[in-house]
Amino acid sequence: MASGGFRNGTSKGTLKVERNVSVYSNVKSSSFKSKPAPSPSSHASGLRRNSSGSLGSPGAVKDDAGVPGRVRVAVRMRPQNAEELVADADFADCVELQPELKRLKLRKNNWDSDTYEFDEVLTEFASQKRVYEVVAKPVVESVLEGYNGTVMAYGQTGTGKTFTLGLLGEKDTASRGIMVRSMEDILADISPETDSVSVSYLQLYMETIQDLLDPANDNISIVEDPRAGDVSLPGATVVEIRNQKSFLELLRLGEAHRFAANTKLNTESSRSHAILMVNVKRSVIGREAAAFSSENGNASHLSKTIKPPVVRKGKLIVVDLAGSERIDKSGSEGHTLEEAKSINLSLSALGKCINALAENSSHVPVRDSKLTRLLRDSFGGTARTSLIVTIGPSPRHRGETSSTIMFGQRAMKVENMVKIKEEFDYKSLSRRLEIQLDKLIVEHERQQKAFEDEVERITIEAQNRISELERNYADALENERLKYQKEYMASIKKLEEQWIMDKQKHGNDKTGFEHKDECLDKTHSWEGPLVSVSEEVIELRQLLKNEIHSRKVAEEEVKNLESQLAQWKSSEASGNAELLKLHKLLEDEERQKGKLEEEITILRSQLLQLSFEAEETGRSLERDGPGKIFTGLDSLMAQVRHPPLKDSGHEQKASIAKLFEQVGMQKILSLLESEDADVRIHAVKVVANLAAEEANQEKIVEAGGLTSLLMLLRSSEDDMIRRVASGAIANLAMNETNQELIMAQGGISLLSMTAADAEDPQTLRMVAGAIANLCGNDKLQMTLRGEGGIKALLGMVRCGHPDVLAQVARGIANFAKCESRASTQGTKTGRSRLIDDGALHWIVQNANNEASPIRRHIELALCHLAQHEVNAKDMISGGALWELVRISRDCSREDIRTLAHRTMTSSPTFQAELRRLRIEC
Ligand code: ADP
Ligand code: MG
Repeated sequence: MASGGFRNGTSKGTLKVERNVSVYSNVKSSSFKSKPAPSPSSHASGLRRNSSGSLGSPGAVKDDAGVPGRVRVAVRMRPQNAEELVADADFADCVELQPELKRLKLRKNNWDSDTYEFDEVLTEFASQKRVYEVVAKPVVESVLEGYNGTVMAYGQTGTGKTFTLGLLGEKDTASRGIMVRSMEDILADISPETDSVSVSYLQLYMETIQDLLDPANDNISIVEDPRAGDVSLPGATVVEIRNQKSFLELLRLGEAHRFAANTKLNTESSRSHAILMVNVKRSVIGREAAAFSSENGNASHLSKTIKPPVVRKGKLIVVDLAGSERIDKSGSEGHTLEEAKSINLSLSALGKCINALAENSSHVPVRDSKLTRLLRDSFGGTARTSLIVTIGPSPRHRGETSSTIMFGQRAMKVENMVKIKEEFDYKSLSRRLEIQLDKLIVEHERQQKAFEDEVERITIEAQNRISELERNYADALENERLKYQKEYMASIKKLEEQWIMDKQKHGNDKTGFEHKDECLDKTHSWEGPLVSVSEEVIELRQLLKNEIHSRKVAEEEVKNLESQLAQWKSSEASGNAELLKLHKLLEDEERQKGKLEEEITILRSQLLQLSFEAEETGRSLERDGPGKIFTGLDSLMAQVRHPPLKDSGHEQKASIAKLFEQVGMQKILSLLESEDADVRIHAVKVVANLAAEEANQEKIVEAGGLTSLLMLLRSSEDDMIRRVASGAIANLAMNETNQELIMAQGGISLLSMTAADAEDPQTLRMVAGAIANLCGNDKLQMTLRGEGGIKALLGMVRCGHPDVLAQVARGIANFAKCESRASTQGTKTGRSRLIDDGALHWIVQNANNEASPIRRHIELALCHLAQHEVNAKDMISGGALWELVRISRDCSREDIRTLAHRTMTSSPTFQAELRRLRIEC
């Protein structure tokens, strides 16, 4: 995937890269390679061959996984200090350096020593400049190219770690340490317009990271990006560095803070790790964009434009580790053992990690400490790492020196896979594209405007041309016209002249002729053609005149016709209006007719009922014969004592009338309240008989007979009395005025009570008859029903006697008739009270009763109910529609058949149901 050469040897060539968006990748520790410490020969090809002192492995082909880059390790020995000069004067040095062989000999005893190879062996005479150049400079150069880099010093306290890394060299520039020199090189290399350098400075002590640029910020957490394998400290202060001076100030500040912090923590700097982080962000647009397009030979302008600029982000970490000496003196520093463990935790974890990496172990305990987490890219990661181990010359510290050397040896076995940290800068590409887009939009708008202007200009030009042509054409036409006119006039003039000339000539030739002849001649001889022309002209003129005249006549005619048309139109309009009116009238008439027909239907049904009632009354009269007749007061009294066996008709009737005259109504009525039960019975019979005669009814009522009869119903226990009284009341109830009186005196309740108590069919027949009569009164409908009249009627069907049933049916038919009338008049709404009171079931059951009086009344009642759409649904569900169908087909009376048929066909609900049931009617 990646192509192009990796920097080789001393040449700091351009890196040609074509790669995916991100070159970061999470390299697992298990994939890290380690190899044995390089042999002197292989080692020789390392540092010595690079005059610039690069520790980098040259010539590797770049790919995404990076290239192998072993951790480079140099050893530096401090010169003897004043104390050692005295103290160690009698001792032989325990370390012998062979810098040219890059070897170090550690004396085991007087006759034996171990030899170790390093990437660089720096003697006590090595200058700070040289140390920087062999140890740090290659790393710094890598960082500038977009790699991560680490420079770390490891060694016993007092061996020169800080001397090597941190010296500012303010008094003696030659003593400047690695930090200062690194920044100098970085600042010299970057271009301030496109690149940036920023710095954080931290201290790690007892597993706590403290910001040396902001000491209050003393618990900074480490954030690891598992995808990119990157480690960052978002909480740390980041200071942008523009020049060396500001960097030195920053380091001074950091040192001061470090000193203060250590004083406060009651420790020494030797116990803490100091970490300087330098982030270098470089844009490679100028240098590398060329590489992109040249690789992509036919790259269009567009593809070049949308190629995002590449940024390289190199990070340099400089670590001044805590002293590597064992911390068994910790007690003197006032720390508990736990604290001591914590102080050393990071350092020992680092040692473990390096051991694991050196041994190519499958597990590297990177997560065991903050230091190893921070340095995960430095050892076994993608960074280019350079370690300097510092030792002192004193044989008294031989043990520490030895362990430091061993640490360095192990670190040399750690192989990193160095990888460039390069990514596309989409943000700046987006910015650039936006600007370009805006430019294009402006350009487009400008062109659009120019185009529109051009179109307008051409349009105006065309219009001008057209109008000019029109003008020219009109001018030419006018000229032509004038020319012809002129020519015409000229020729006329010429003709006239010629004519005059000819005339004169003629006059000269014919001198001596009569003037008349002359005229004649002029007309007929030499001027023949001219004469005919003028004749023609005259003729034509005449014709023209005629034409004009006839045209005028025609115009007149047209005008006439037009006015006639207008008249017709207006009359047509008025005719239409008239027609509309007539239509409306017709519609009204039709509506009226419909209504009338409806009314006729209802009236017919009422007539039917009346005729039926008349018939029945006739029949019943025939059957029952006249009432019980009494003869005279004497015989009345006799009757009271000896009830008559069998009386017969007319004779008795007449005698009752006589009796009535003789004793007076009052007297008879007073007998109704007699102590003697027999007297009471006979008296009531007398009154009943009298009540059967219409002529007597008024008198009976006037005398309070009705009230007395009602009283009897209420008070009497005697069945006979109640039956006869009911009969009398039934008779009186034929009259409308009496009906109202009965109702006013609570007659319905009394009759209902009687109906409920009585068993005797005759009594029930009378009571039912009375109620049936009341049912026929329009005014009493509501009260009657309200006081339980319908219920009482229906209650009486229990006795099953056809006479009683006939009266009940009559009452129902009467009630239905009145209700129907009220509905038609609009004084009643809603469904029938009969249905409300549950009469429908009985009606349907008895609609085909064998007894014709019952059947007829019910048939009529059904027809009344069916006339009102509100009842239709209940009637259907109650089975009444079947009865109506039956009646419309089978009823022996044609008028009832027709009525049933009509009521059915005029109801949409019935019609729908019949259609649903597929019944034709
Ligand atoms: P460390 O940081 O390892 O504890 P320092 O850098 O503080 O050690 O060094 C201890 C002392 O030794 C300091 O006084 C320092 O100036 C001196 N020193 C260390 N290395 C050298 C050297 N290479 N040349 C001269 N003096 C040195
Ligand atoms: Mg130090």
